[in-house]
Amino acid sequence: MNLLEAQDFIAPSQTPTKAQETLDALRFDNRFTRDLPADPDRQNRRRQVTGACYSRVDPTPVAAPRLVAYSPEVANLLGLSIHTCESDAFTQVFTGNRLLPGMQPFAMCYGGHQFGNWAGQLGDGRAINLGEIVNSDSQRWMLQLKGAGPTPYSRTADGLAVLRSSVREFLCSEAMFHLGVPTTRALSLTLTGEEVERDMFYDGHPKLEPGAVVCRVSPSFTRFGSFQIFAARGEMDVLKQLADHTIRTDFPHLGEPSPAVYLRWFEEVCRRTAEMIVHWMRVGFVHGVMNTDNMSILGLTIDYGPYGWLENYDPDWTPNTTDAAGRRYRFGHQPAIAQWNLAQLANAIHPLIGQVEPLQGVLDDYVNLYQEGWRQMMSRKLGFNAFDPATDDALISELLAILPLVETDMTIFFRRLARLDGHDPSLAAVGDEALMAPLMDAYYVPDQLTGDMRSRTANWLRRYLERAGRDNIPHPVRRRRMNAVNPKYVLRNYMAQMAIDKAEQDDFSLIHELLDLVRRPYDEQPEKEAFAARRPDWARHRPGCSMLSCSS
Ligand code: AMP
Ligand code: MG
Repeated sequence: MNLLEAQDFIAPSQTPTKAQETLDALRFDNRFTRDLPADPDRQNRRRQVTGACYSRVDPTPVAAPRLVAYSPEVANLLGLSIHTCESDAFTQVFTGNRLLPGMQPFAMCYGGHQFGNWAGQLGDGRAINLGEIVNSDSQRWMLQLKGAGPTPYSRTADGLAVLRSSVREFLCSEAMFHLGVPTTRALSLTLTGEEVERDMFYDGHPKLEPGAVVCRVSPSFTRFGSFQIFAARGEMDVLKQLADHTIRTDFPHLGEPSPAVYLRWFEEVCRRTAEMIVHWMRVGFVHGVMNTDNMSILGLTIDYGPYGWLENYDPDWTPNTTDAAGRRYRFGHQPAIAQWNLAQLANAIHPLIGQVEPLQGVLDDYVNLYQEGWRQMMSRKLGFNAFDPATDDALISELLAILPLVETDMTIFFRRLARLDGHDPSLAAVGDEALMAPLMDAYYVPDQLTGDMRSRTANWLRRYLERAGRDNIPHPVRRRRMNAVNPKYVLRNYMAQMAIDKAEQDDFSLIHELLDLVRRPYDEQPEKEAFAARRPDWARHRPGCSMLSCSS
């Protein structure tokens, strides 16, 4: 044994106490459970819970918790050092084996529309909130374990989560954050040391999979469905209490709750939701299950399940096998579905306002708000100073008409577009092929580029360069601006799957490598170039890479 190993060997005996002290010092202020009505029944058995926003329930202890990964940025938000995160005490706490002073674990009651149908009570069936931390900047963060055992809301399921889906949630929430997309965060990913049975494709072939827990972190996990359940049950007093709590805690700038403030609150929820969807459309993210119980009242991306990233640009693509028939949650339908979901929220909070017209007006405005945001976003993706209605609608429509005709990688296409220099006089004279040369890496099947397709694309490029030229921005500036909104690295579906394959073999190295990669999605990372390439052919039809089930 060399000296370093000897030190490593000694360290654990000192670590737990110090780390435990740091964890014990976390300041909890459990406003949600303090302000809102609790389920009086303390038994952890599945049932309908009425007249309450939550049920007190502790995580189920597990056999052998083990840390797989943690996010240093989220740890920092909570005031936890790397040393603490790597301690045994941390793993015990964030797998649910040990409660810290001040924690008051609970599961939330909520309902929701699933695939367009009212589903009644859903609730935190496998999520257990530990409590709300107030950090040194006075920010409030709710800590929530996903996969920590059954709750009164578990219905017929087990309350657990498997490694596969937990890796996907952990990596994607952090990837989205670094892309600048509003999202819940993930502090840690741990293994429980227990096995969980899952029938991944619901085809009668259940398998045992490693159980895992993700600690999610967000200012609030309240969903559209949190309000819907009380409206549906006619529990108007609880509805009002939850709305008032939400406004006072998360929207304090709106003022004290009143009918006018409820309306302004709904306006802000619409605006935040529109902004979130614009971001999804910018980076090519498809949520996959935009049920109203998966819509955050804060406009954050929440509940990473069978989500996916557009590789070849196809607005009709949905990653979710359960959604394959109706394609309700396909990429191009997300803005409309968000509005549908907002309409359900409007129905739920209508009793607080008492008038339909103002709510309808706000909902109608969502369309303009989204459209305006989307136009600004597209013009930034194309590197323009601002959206010019005289030319840009037509220009963007033609681009979006061309892209799906030949399999074109969305991320690579926009990133490469920044390389074209409209000020380069030699470009004016080159033929179609030379003009398109910088983009060729974006094409999955170059043979699909027939003569017609080439000339249509090249024509578009000439129009585009002419339009960009009118802005008079030096090329390096335009390129820099474009590269700041068109990521080079996204969490391609196959990349998460490779990390899962390795993790299931007890090798967590790719999870760490990808977490590191997605921290700087807009930077050139020359040593990571392979992750910026097109999806490899083997991944085209592989489960987990192109199609995901809800089983998680
Ligand atoms: P989701 O499709 O993940 O949004 O889940 C819909 C509802 O099912 C939520 O109420 C979840 O808490 C619940 N749920 C999903 N998976 C499980 C599970 N393994 N155990 C208990 N409840 C679950
Ligand atoms: Mg959910």
